[in-house]
Amino acid sequence: MGAGVARDAAMRGLSVTLLEKHTVGWGTSSRSSRLAHGGIRYLETGDIALVREALAERATLLRIAPQLVRPVSFLFVLERGAWWQWLRVGIGVTLYGALAGRRALGAHHPVTRGGLVNREPLLARTPLQGGAIYQDARCDDIGLVRATIQSAMRHGATVIEHCHAAVAVEEGGVAATLSDGTVIRARTLVVATGPWTDAVRRDLALPDRQLVGGTKGIHITVPLARLPLSHAIALRHPGDQRVMFCIPEPEHDQVVIGTTDTDTDEPPDALTVADADVAYLLRAVQHLFPGRDLSEADIVDRWAGVRPLLRQPGAASSRSREHLMLREGAVLTIAGGKLTTYRSMAEEAVDRLGEMLERTLPASRTAEELL
Ligand SMILES: Cc1cc2nc3c(=O)[nH]c(=O)nc-3n(C[C@H](O)[C@H](O)[C@H](O)COP(=O)(O)OP(=O)(O)OC[C@H]3O[C@@H](n4cnc5c(N)ncnc54)[C@H](O)[C@@H]3O)c2cc1C
Repeated sequence: MGAGVARDAAMRGLSVTLLEKHTVGWGTSSRSSRLAHGGIRYLETGDIALVREALAERATLLRIAPQLVRPVSFLFVLERGAWWQWLRVGIGVTLYGALAGRRALGAHHPVTRGGLVNREPLLARTPLQGGAIYQDARCDDIGLVRATIQSAMRHGATVIEHCHAAVAVEEGGVAATLSDGTVIRARTLVVATGPWTDAVRRDLALPDRQLVGGTKGIHITVPLARLPLSHAIALRHPGDQRVMFCIPEPEHDQVVIGTTDTDTDEPPDALTVADADVAYLLRAVQHLFPGRDLSEADIVDRWAGVRPLLRQPGAASSRSREHLMLREGAVLTIAGGKLTTYRSMAEEAVDRLGEMLERTLPASRTAEELL
């Protein structure tokens, strides 16, 4: 988010310094499911406007960063069960394709059990009822952050990593004192710190509004040779019926399996991958692909991230991925959102900065200029 704002602001002629306490992309943006997607599962929670916006952004990212964002065909698989579940998923993918409009990437329709096995022979031993095919995009999340930062720097932004600045809100702006004593003064400050938002706001002595209530998600990867999928798979976990994914990444010879979605009190700097979470993901793939005998020994990598979700009541999985921009004097706080919508959110944030600076800024060009 910070990278997106820095790029957009620098492209519109503002003087920009980005302060990052680790390295860019170190936070949530390198721990995602790596999908540039509308979010088919948000259709279940009725977030139609969000899905439509994210699908439009998916198309923009495919256009401006084709080396980092690529289309992927998904099979939504359903185990034996009520026929109306099949109908429901069929309607869901058809709606998903319709919401993408002319930007839809290919087929969106229900598929019979035979059709699923024809497309993905690895499903031959699974007790399937049927399913559906739909299209999405997957992305190199950390690559996207780095490309965005590079672009910001080409347009004149300064990026300071490993930066532990003391930032104070003053009359008419903010001042950041770096560890070597250098003071950077600015007329506006954007707080784009994902799951650290409330902590950073406390340090700035801003009102404690409890904006972000993160949920933790973990992923594991297994070698593609152990699970040689040619499609991404969306499935319901056999335990709690949550939607999760198995996404092949042929360029890395691996399949990403995820994710969990649970409330957490862990600080975002020190997240753990619990054995129970790994077992939860493994159980789903073992159940779906009984012939593959996947076990803990097949896991190549595992990671955890915290979703910087807007704080609101309700089960973790049903919380909205919408965002909020909060203007308080010289400070603009961005909370919520998704990796997929980072560019449009950044555009909106810089529009707000123009208002705060009382300047007429040129229109954003981040949707046109390639990354
Ligand atoms: C498990 C999981 C799966 C997800 N999958 C997807 C997906 O497939 N598609 C999608 O669109 N979205 C996905 N998301 C959501 C998406 O990853 C996040 O919404 C997005 O990455 C948040 O970006 P951000 O810049 O707001 O936060 P972050 O990427 O966390 O960046 C915040 C940065 O602020 C820095 N920081 C913190 N405090 C300070 C300070 N005091 N001074 C300076 N710097 C500071 C941190 O070091 C960090 O680098 C997923 C999230 C999770 C957790």
